[in-house]
Amino acid sequence: MIYIHIPFCKSRCLYCDFFSSTSFDQKNDFIKALLSEMNHRADEIRSARANTVYIGGGTPSQLDISQIACIFKELTNIVPLEGGAEVTIECNPDDITIDFIRGLKSTPVNRISLGLQTLNDKLLTLLRRRHSSTQALMAVDMLRQSGYNNISLDLMYGLPGQTLEMWKDDVQRVLSLAIPHLSAYSLQWEEGTPLFSMLESGEVTEAPEDLSVAMYDYLLTATRTAGMEHYEISNFSIPGMRARHNSGYWRNEAYVGLGPGAHSYDGDKTRSNNLPDLKAYILSGGTPKREIEVMTDDELYEESVLKGLRTSNGLDLDNLLPRYYEYALKMAKPHIESGNLVRRGNTLILTEKGFFVSNDIMSDMML
Ligand code: SF4
Repeated sequence: MIYIHIPFCKSRCLYCDFFSSTSFDQKNDFIKALLSEMNHRADEIRSARANTVYIGGGTPSQLDISQIACIFKELTNIVPLEGGAEVTIECNPDDITIDFIRGLKSTPVNRISLGLQTLNDKLLTLLRRRHSSTQALMAVDMLRQSGYNNISLDLMYGLPGQTLEMWKDDVQRVLSLAIPHLSAYSLQWEEGTPLFSMLESGEVTEAPEDLSVAMYDYLLTATRTAGMEHYEISNFSIPGMRARHNSGYWRNEAYVGLGPGAHSYDGDKTRSNNLPDLKAYILSGGTPKREIEVMTDDELYEESVLKGLRTSNGLDLDNLLPRYYEYALKMAKPHIESGNLVRRGNTLILTEKGFFVSNDIMSDMML
């Protein structure tokens, strides 16, 4: 699995704390540094397998097609993509044009993740998203007409001023598009973002807990009615169309992350990340400073709980070191009795009811 971080955005959305720059004059230098990093880490890339590639950001659709093509040329010189590889690029709806899609078709990209967030124009403006709902719907239409049917849409709920009716409208309009994959996240109030400052100054308020619960409840019911599988806390797909790249993260598979701020994992105990510093990344000539963390057995256990329980595949107790097995079962017991968890063989799985209290369950199972 290969992740490539593109650290540029045309403008910053109010709620976002992802690493990206709005200054585009370093775009070419960044691409050069990225290609060098790929070559320096060629062995790692080969051993992580090219069964999925995910180009995220930032806003990858702010790259020129020639730059995207360059990335794939270099990557596939190092390791050919496996047959049937899932190759995703994140796009903002306002970047989708016929020319852009035509260009993408000449690359291995076969899946588009489109950041809608909401189809309510007032909320889009409040969040400082650059697109309108009309642009979002047109983007989906254009992608499909060009043969891109493997589309994932992102929505957000719990937004300031968002009512249950507004959320129902978003969900219904998105489901009426019959897309194969939907991710829906509750707004995270990240310290340091402009939205967080607005919260502190009282300009906006957090959605009450019962409203967020009602929104999630509606989401689960509506996606189920539409025939989608709820396969991870925030992810839904029609059968056979789960996100393979993200599913690999949740299964603790190895991945290589390229670009400033990108994280890597060796599939065993070692995590690392490139420092989130674009200038230093470019100056490093493809050997950026990396923070390396070797996880302890306790940390590995906790991570397995967090990742396993969030998916409908559940937490496989047989994958835990023997000394954590009994502890996990003991901590899970009250949640099994209350119907929030089920045990199937040696796997613990959240029930539909359990998804509403997943944070509490996971926190109880920590050490
Ligand atoms: S939400 Fe996406 S487009 Fe907006 S600032 Fe964050 S990374 Fe950039």
